[in-house]
Amino acid sequence: MTDLINVDGKCYCGDISIKGTVALAMVMACHCTDCQKFSGAPFRAVAFMPAENIEITGSVKEYLKTADSGNERLQGFCGNCGSQIHATDPAKTTFMVRTGCLTQFSSLVPVKHIFGSSMAEWLSSIGQKTWVSTGPTSAEITPPTK
Ligand SMILES: [Zn+2]
Ligand SMILES: [Zn+2]
Repeated sequence: MTDLINVDGKCYCGDISIKGTVALAMVMACHCTDCQKFSGAPFRAVAFMPAENIEITGSVKEYLKTADSGNERLQGFCGNCGSQIHATDPAKTTFMVRTGCLTQFSSLVPVKHIFGSSMAEWLSSIGQKTWVSTGPTSAEITPPTK
């Protein structure tokens, strides 16, 4: 049986909210260069959610991305605060929800890392660096592991 968890979340400003269920086996991290550009971060963690498992409230702004392959993907984000919400196919059958906007993000452990060939090379040594609890001058901590 697949492990399913209930998730909920909001964009930063709260205009958009999400509710639904995620199969833990369908959480991945994408290290493609498009994800790096769209997010401004080294990768995006996503939960694949079929349309019947997700309820979105609020108006999601969309940017249609056409890949070199001709594959079209809608990039959904909040038009007010800019938070990235999801990517979906033009027919909106499956949503790849950005786990950072979900309350349960820490439990949504990516089971697979895709587009690993364009991964930021420093990621594999992230646990060996200095970690502090909040701002740059705060106390040193050992990063939690999951
Ligand atoms: Zn917002
Ligand atoms: Zn990607």
